[in-house]
Amino acid sequence: MASEKEAALVATPSDSTIFDKIINKEIPSTVVYEDDKVLAFKDIEPQAPVHILLIPKVKDGLSGLSKAEERHIDILGRLLYAANLVAKQEGLDDGFRIVINDGPNGCQSVYHIHVHVLGGRQMNWPPG
Ligand code: 5GP
Repeated sequence: MASEKEAALVATPSDSTIFDKIINKEIPSTVVYEDDKVLAFKDIEPQAPVHILLIPKVKDGLSGLSKAEERHIDILGRLLYAANLVAKQEGLDDGFRIVINDGPNGCQSVYHIHVHVLGGRQMNWPPG
């Protein structure tokens, strides 16, 4: 498996991603939260004891945060609000880290916007 950095360098903002297959239940995932707009599931390569990804069920051109337009304000708010619900549900009462990687320099490897919720250990700053 390529490193995150290598995966990010070869990733392209294609229309369909592995996350569409997860939304459509074509490949399995461990769903921890779901509402009509947002799906949250465990990351397949966890970087912390708790590592959850939150995605919009409808991408609507939002391959990454840098593609955000005014019409996306509602879903962006929903993603962050749901991240807070998930953090509480997962017992991250001492805090957690929210990450949105964007583009090659941000090490984004899947071009369907997603919010990482990381917790269950002490996070470091600055990030790598
Ligand atoms: P990015 O690097 O784009 O910010 O994050 C993509 C994340 O998706 C990575 O943390 C990676 O481990 C996760 N991921 C990639 N493929 C799959 C998959 O098939 N299932 C799950 N659950 N996570 C995946």
